[in-house]
Amino acid sequence: MSTALDATHDPALRSWVVSANEPGCDFPIQNLPFGRMRVGDEPWRIGVAIGDQVLDLRLAAGAGALPEAVSGLLVPLAAGDLNAFMALGPAARAALRRALSAALAAGSEAQGRLSSCLVPQARVQLGVACEIGDYTDFYVGIHHATAVGKLFRPDNPLLPNYKWVPIGYHGRSSTILPSGRDFVRPSGQVKAADAEAPVLRPTARLDFELEMGIVIGGANALGEPVPIERAEDHVFGLTLFNDWSARDVQAWEYQPLGPFLSKNFASTISPWVVTLEALAPFRRAFTRPAGDPQPLPYLHCEADAAAGAFDVQLEVWLSTARMRQQGLGAHCISRSNFADAAYWTVAQMVAHHTVGGCALRPGDLFGSGTLSGPRPDQAGSLLELSQGGKQPIELPGGEQRRFLEDGDEVSFRGVCERPGAVRIGFGACTARVLPAASR
Ligand code: CA
Repeated sequence: MSTALDATHDPALRSWVVSANEPGCDFPIQNLPFGRMRVGDEPWRIGVAIGDQVLDLRLAAGAGALPEAVSGLLVPLAAGDLNAFMALGPAARAALRRALSAALAAGSEAQGRLSSCLVPQARVQLGVACEIGDYTDFYVGIHHATAVGKLFRPDNPLLPNYKWVPIGYHGRSSTILPSGRDFVRPSGQVKAADAEAPVLRPTARLDFELEMGIVIGGANALGEPVPIERAEDHVFGLTLFNDWSARDVQAWEYQPLGPFLSKNFASTISPWVVTLEALAPFRRAFTRPAGDPQPLPYLHCEADAAAGAFDVQLEVWLSTARMRQQGLGAHCISRSNFADAAYWTVAQMVAHHTVGGCALRPGDLFGSGTLSGPRPDQAGSLLELSQGGKQPIELPGGEQRRFLEDGDEVSFRGVCERPGAVRIGFGACTARVLPAASR
């Protein structure tokens, strides 16, 4: 597990990229997340965020400002292929991190050659960081599972398998969109409780789901389960992830096989993948409440119990068209934390996903499931915040919301902070709802 701290985590470390040293910056030198960017119509390139800049790794490789020992690691990155770099595994990733950290540190001799390899983030378009192969959405948020279960089954909210099996379903990667790409309100089959037959119409219960994205790095061979002790060796890093959901479509279609069209019209992923190395200072013990069943042996190891949780503070911000017209800023409607919300760890998700022999590949993505905190105001969806649409939430300017309306923009933020470490952030995961297509 990537929990060891080294010189790259030193809280005293500063960068010659001045904006990286400002308090509250998501991308100090201790972070160094990977993303894919381009300027204008140029080809996509892989970059590393530092302050308000991106270090273009194609230019950096060409400038020869990094040590010869990592030049091989830069080959796939210079070619714009993050997946090939991710496949190299955690040792390669950690080696490049040390080299980038040293080169970007204040006083580095590399400054002269690397400063011309920086591009202002304001000038670039950010895409999805890698080619996403298969996408699986888990359901590890126990407070979400309980709250949603209560809406459907007041006496029996949590199904009996929940505390034994990390629940998930296979989704689609083709509709995973980069942050900033707006999407059209989907239509689908909806059936009112008192109606005899369903109708096709634009969803009236459009919702967000506050999730983390887990980006898979190294592959495992078909038929070879990944033991939990080595599960994190197959994880590259984490992102923010919004699994937009059409609740009325979902309610009609979900039995017996689970979500289908209610989830496959758009999901938004944040542009920067924060590596497990960057997250090392923000690990927490993972414990289960006394009296809960202990995980089966293939889902348990001491290292995962000691530090399997990630302390990521999460926020949901909503801005409506009218709020923007009135000059009102976005409004924070929920705050949660990955570590408080999740009943299963990232390592348990990997171990479970592969236990039957399923092959993971570089660039596969897991969604965590909706990460609601234990309190009602920490809910990670409007379905919960509005109690199934019964209790609207109040917004600045006098508006109310039960579900999302056209023009609404939802933005997630994620930060890690603790005493003795430099705060790091994930950047934004943002998109706006466009009106349904006319037919
Ligand atoms: Ca979901």
